[in-house]
Amino acid sequence: MKTLLLAVLLASAASAQVPAIYFGAQNAEILQHYRALVQIDTSPPGNETKAVSYLKKVLEAEGIATQTFALNPDRANLVARLKGNGSKRPLLILAHTDVVGVQREKWPVDPFAAIMKDGYIWGRGTRDDKPNLAANLMTMLLLKRSGVALDRDIIFLAESGEEADITGVGINFMVAQHFDAIDAEFSITEGGGARLENGAVKTVNIGTAEKVPASVRLVATGRSGHGSVPRLDNPLVHLGAAVEKVGRWEPPMRLNDTTRTYFEKLATISSPDKAARYRDLTNPQRTAAVQRYLRENEPGLYSMLRTSVVPTQLKAGVGPNVIPSEAEATLDIRALPDEDIAKFYAAMNDVIADPAVKIVPLPATRPPSPVSPLTTEMYRALEQVSKRMYPGVTVLPSMSTGASDMAQLRAKGIPSYGIGPAATEEDANYGAHSDVERLAESSLYKFVEFTWNAVTAVAVHK
Ligand SMILES: [Zn+2]
Repeated sequence: MKTLLLAVLLASAASAQVPAIYFGAQNAEILQHYRALVQIDTSPPGNETKAVSYLKKVLEAEGIATQTFALNPDRANLVARLKGNGSKRPLLILAHTDVVGVQREKWPVDPFAAIMKDGYIWGRGTRDDKPNLAANLMTMLLLKRSGVALDRDIIFLAESGEEADITGVGINFMVAQHFDAIDAEFSITEGGGARLENGAVKTVNIGTAEKVPASVRLVATGRSGHGSVPRLDNPLVHLGAAVEKVGRWEPPMRLNDTTRTYFEKLATISSPDKAARYRDLTNPQRTAAVQRYLRENEPGLYSMLRTSVVPTQLKAGVGPNVIPSEAEATLDIRALPDEDIAKFYAAMNDVIADPAVKIVPLPATRPPSPVSPLTTEMYRALEQVSKRMYPGVTVLPSMSTGASDMAQLRAKGIPSYGIGPAATEEDANYGAHSDVERLAESSLYKFVEFTWNAVTAVAVHK
């Protein structure tokens, strides 16, 4: 089998085309690496260096040199590079090695054993983010074995600390101190996916944008005093009024390339009443009614329309008969990618219209990042590969209302695209950060093939 495969690879390499890989023959190796990576427990505090050691061994055994970069020796990042002829700038393929924690009593199986049951592989990280990590690893191995000529370098990055990079060991460290090692024309990473219905992929989501976290504290101040004496400057009263005003406030709706395309395409695969609503978003006569509907019934879509302001915490009071001198609220604010944050805070201040209440921005967790274009060679390749692998599929560019490590890369001028394996609606209960995580074995293999197809489409010398 190996000899046959090698012969096929050599034949295709000689004709300088994308090497023909018979993916069925790769399944055993894909599964082996993927399960091994899930079995390495990288839940908090991370210990990602254990995963890095595994990847380093596998890559170096194939003759692919690696470099590790560690701010904290237990939480290393690993970079490997396959050289191209330099006619195009590099492609960065990255995945994070850490996973979120587990509550063991919620798991029907050992969360770090990568148990195979009912057609699924079960374990923490089986969805987030070890499929991408395994797919990127396999792509590197297959490219190296094929010996195919590349127009651009392929940079493999296994990064630590994505889930809670408060110490800055992962992408922040790499961007700030080792950007040369990962600088690229494009990147692909987690942040997309595909929807399976009745055994067929119906939609592929490609992450092309994300909102910018811009949370603040609202701090109301007044004079403290006895609870038996009503005071007009009671900070609780001022804060309560301010929270109500911003909580009901609707900043202006603004679509970008991604969200406009998203709603247009969503309309083509939705029921007639939903489709009409998505189309009417841009109809001046109908948009207000549609936005009202989405606010009530589809809040995830509503959040894609505008910068959102969501009160999440209140803190005030020292005793039942004491007026405190200060009261504060936290507002979780997710800004549109093009929002001018300072201007936005000024507008919010006008809405509050109360000098006793001050807006205090919380430290930024992610830089503002531009929407990645839908016109690049990388995006087109992802779209074409989706259509080739899944005939009749609808490709949806997506703006996440959450935040990811793509923010740091996009902010450095690297258009970044989120991809991910296919899952059914039921699988959503076993997705990223769920009590129990699992991935269909068949989705794993298809996703490795998808990644390979996308990478080779933009990198192989033709
Ligand atoms: Zn993740």
